[in-house]
Amino acid sequence: MNMQEYIDEAEQSLLHTYNRYQIVIEKGKGVYLYDTDGIKYLDFVSGIAVFALGYGNKEYNDALKAQIDKVIHTSNYYYNMPAIRAAKKLKEVSGMDRVFFTNSGAEAVEGAIKAARKYAYLKDGTTDHEIIAMEHSFHGRTFGALSVTGTPKYREPFEPMIGNIRFARMNDLASVEELINDRTCAIILETVQGEGGLVPATEEFLKGVKALCEERDILLILDEIQCGMGRTGHMFAWQRYSVKPDIMTTAKALGCGVPVGAFLMTEKVAANSMAAGDHGTTYGGNPLACAAVEKVLDLFEENHIIENVREVAPYLEQRLEELKEKYDCITERRGTGLMQGLVFDCPVRDVIERALENGLLLINAGADILRFVPPLIISKENVDEMIEILESCIEPSEED
Ligand SMILES: *Cc1c(COP(=O)(O)O)cnc(C)c1O
Repeated sequence: MNMQEYIDEAEQSLLHTYNRYQIVIEKGKGVYLYDTDGIKYLDFVSGIAVFALGYGNKEYNDALKAQIDKVIHTSNYYYNMPAIRAAKKLKEVSGMDRVFFTNSGAEAVEGAIKAARKYAYLKDGTTDHEIIAMEHSFHGRTFGALSVTGTPKYREPFEPMIGNIRFARMNDLASVEELINDRTCAIILETVQGEGGLVPATEEFLKGVKALCEERDILLILDEIQCGMGRTGHMFAWQRYSVKPDIMTTAKALGCGVPVGAFLMTEKVAANSMAAGDHGTTYGGNPLACAAVEKVLDLFEENHIIENVREVAPYLEQRLEELKEKYDCITERRGTGLMQGLVFDCPVRDVIERALENGLLLINAGADILRFVPPLIISKENVDEMIEILESCIEPSEED
């Protein structure tokens, strides 16, 4: 079949919840993906901040193959070695105390919300506690995660959401303070907002929120699903300012492609929230998923992934700033590390389409923001290659 035939067939059977770009991806190598016609694309999307290690990493692939030959799945009623090792390593890099593995980011957020509610319930014996979330946040598509997602259009057709969620403004401490009351059990935010437009929480805001939480015994939940796992030049973005959350979520790059997420908590929260029978998952933390997590964490260290981010990210930032200066249609550069955005004064779908035609994969964050979340192994040469293609895609709009 040629590519168009694959696409036609897909549209006969897959639920149309995405306006997909018109390529069928077949394989990947390093920072490049190939479609079924053999056309090569420089990938600045990495499956939306997932494939940190690059495609076709031999050690990663071998580790998964070896685990497949041992056992892919067992019940969480038994222990398995990859989960034990992965949890220990995740604790080491995060400084958190307890890990619960999930199958996705949204499920990690669900677990975090449940833990926070249970903690408050055990404290005062009542329910109906409130959670403060941020406007323009994104936490996933399941009901709990959607309820704390600060984009009304994602929520409205599916209401009612879970109750008692209040929305404050990111980087506006007073707006958080205003919403706190005796019922508040948790504040949830992304350390760097992804979907909402590549907005890092400022040091002042993060520290202010943390102080409010400590004062009132409110749990701070940091969603590190997109900004975590090295992307900002720190294993987790909160480590930059040493603002440790009570509960943290991770997913996306955690398994580098094998679907896995986790929520982690401090011992204090663990000892006073979730007990046996409170939460579960059939697949979460299965041996195959955890073999991936374990290997990813090993390779981050062995391949100096975070060091590479720290070396390449300033260069990417500089090149994007140059574009902003050069083109009137670009109004702002945002983000941190290898999680960057260019704000346009118009929708970016056309730029993305043209980039695709020229062998570059990019993705938006909201209609007007071009998002750059490449594999964490990219080089400065890859940045130059990306900028060259991108420039050729911006120019046409300049002329009309
Ligand atoms: C992607 C994302 C999620 C949801 O993760 P899924 O694996 O798609 O469920 C939650 N929070 C943030 C910050 C994300 O970027």
